[in-house]
Amino acid sequence: MEFNSKIYVAGHRGMVGSALVENLERKGFVNIITRTSQELDLTNQLAVKTFFESEKPEYVFLAAAKVGGIVANDTYSADFIYENILIQTHVIHESYKNKVKKLLFLGSSCIYPKLAPQPLKEEYLLTGLLEETNESYAVAKIAGIKMCEAYRKQYGCSFISAMPCNLYGFNDNYDLQNSHVIPALLRKFHEAKSSKSPEVIVWGTGTPLREFLHASQMADACVYLMQNYDDGGFVNVGSGSEISIGDLANMVKEIVGFQGEIIFDTTKPDGTPRKIMDVSRLSSLGWKNAIALKQGIEKVYNEKFCKS
Ligand code: GDP
Repeated sequence: MEFNSKIYVAGHRGMVGSALVENLERKGFVNIITRTSQELDLTNQLAVKTFFESEKPEYVFLAAAKVGGIVANDTYSADFIYENILIQTHVIHESYKNKVKKLLFLGSSCIYPKLAPQPLKEEYLLTGLLEETNESYAVAKIAGIKMCEAYRKQYGCSFISAMPCNLYGFNDNYDLQNSHVIPALLRKFHEAKSSKSPEVIVWGTGTPLREFLHASQMADACVYLMQNYDDGGFVNVGSGSEISIGDLANMVKEIVGFQGEIIFDTTKPDGTPRKIMDVSRLSSLGWKNAIALKQGIEKVYNEKFCKS
């Protein structure tokens, strides 16, 4: 990528997309193009075709997707499979048709089989059954990875994919029902502290293990891969360390300064028991996470909840 290359960031209002724009601008890239979903509906094939034919981007970061936490994925499984398959199919196909020099597709660690050995290596894809709560989303993401691989194989396109662990950041969704665990906990503990509530409800048993990465680090890794990686396989992106939901809840409690109790609601799903990725492919390429979990959550808490 040259500093004046035309770079399209699809999904720039989202958590990763906005972090990508920030990262690219900070690094000196000056020709970034974006469209809101009102301006360009990526589920509309003709609109995407017209956009690519008129704008002719040279590089594409495909960070547009319908995303959500464990309950949202389970509740709106039709919307998750339909919208994600349409968005990625249109963007990947038009990138091929319009000779995009390189495309990076963002996947998710939920593509791996529920009971795959841990840490999850890239080669474990499609070796077993998926976690049920997010199967629709995972199937869509697997289709995206395979589509990038197929276009590389048949047409020689430089299309790559990156699989992030669970992400968190400023532009996350903070809705209590549909969000992921970190934004949900930040909001629950913050509101409980403000209203002097005696307790906070945490979903599940607290035993599942998850790996988290700050969105700015995900963006940094994506830009790094765009510049330094052009191979057929996809690449895991994570922090390399894991934490139980119970320990995470205590960490957020301490950061927020909440004094009450934590209650686990075991009627809510735990999801997959463990989800830590093997990040040795990424490390061997020379990238590593620079924001520790506690530091990252403190930063997000201060920016999101403590600034007037
Ligand atoms: P997942 O990695 O796809 O399961 O994504 P989530 O971030 O939605 O959930 C991660 C884990 O946190 C699961 O075991 C949830 O049950 C647990 N969890 C605990 N409290 C909450 C909450 O308030 N919201 C969400 N989304 N998850 C929670």
